[in-house]
Amino acid sequence: MHAVHQLHQYRKSISTTTYKARGYRVIRCQLCQLAQQFCICALAPNQEHVQTTAGFVLLMHDTEVLKPSNTGKLIADIIPDSFAFLWSRTKVNPELLAVLNDEKWFPLLVFPQEYAGDDRKVFTNKVICPEGKRPLFIMLDGSWREAKKMFRKSPYLDRFPMVSFDARTAMPAVLGTCHSDSNKQVSPVGQDSRYTVRKTELEHQFSTAEVGARVLAMHGETHNAQLLDLWFDVFNFQYQKSVCQRNKGNVNALENYQSFVNKLYPNHLNMPDSAAIE
Ligand SMILES: [Zn+2]
Repeated sequence: MHAVHQLHQYRKSISTTTYKARGYRVIRCQLCQLAQQFCICALAPNQEHVQTTAGFVLLMHDTEVLKPSNTGKLIADIIPDSFAFLWSRTKVNPELLAVLNDEKWFPLLVFPQEYAGDDRKVFTNKVICPEGKRPLFIMLDGSWREAKKMFRKSPYLDRFPMVSFDARTAMPAVLGTCHSDSNKQVSPVGQDSRYTVRKTELEHQFSTAEVGARVLAMHGETHNAQLLDLWFDVFNFQYQKSVCQRNKGNVNALENYQSFVNKLYPNHLNMPDSAAIE
């Protein structure tokens, strides 16, 4: 179990009512939160093989952690140093502060540039860390409205530089490399969000996982960016199966993901056949 799984269990344990997300009658896998028959846990990347210097802090809005559609957990599926905390308007979690104050990290708040004050450093293209430090990407995980509130009401994050990208012009993290057709993008990061599970409040709003893929790419970890992106597509496609809406996910998601993983980690991962989780 990773940090988001643990936070989900904790949040559920202190809950007095059942959170009624769309499709709440569905029997879900307790980890990926997909309907049991569409569970993707067996396909999750083996973190032992993921080479990264990045870490993530998922600062999650109270109800976000309960939503089966949350995609912050997909980041934690891939990046071993992922931390998850419940956000509070009135209190700062001392464990969160301990992570932020850890000398090995260079914390960066991932948020749109237009919200930065004039003297704030904002990385918009490439993330450059001070010598000997590793980037720690802080994600405000909630609806866009919640995220804006979290941004305004978390003064302890004001001291950190920001990472932003222009959703309208952001370039793809990587072009597909495992397709013979080189014009075909396996990983369309940089286009519009493919996240159709939630009705977005803004046209160019991305899911937390998609944003995570972009900042990994800005840190130069294009393979990890692409892996996260493809993993997101798998989740998105399987999720839509479970809520019985018209599936707008990528029908090739599983195939794309598996061929990329097999190429990236040859002889390391025994990926179950995708037919096994149809
Ligand atoms: Zn699962």
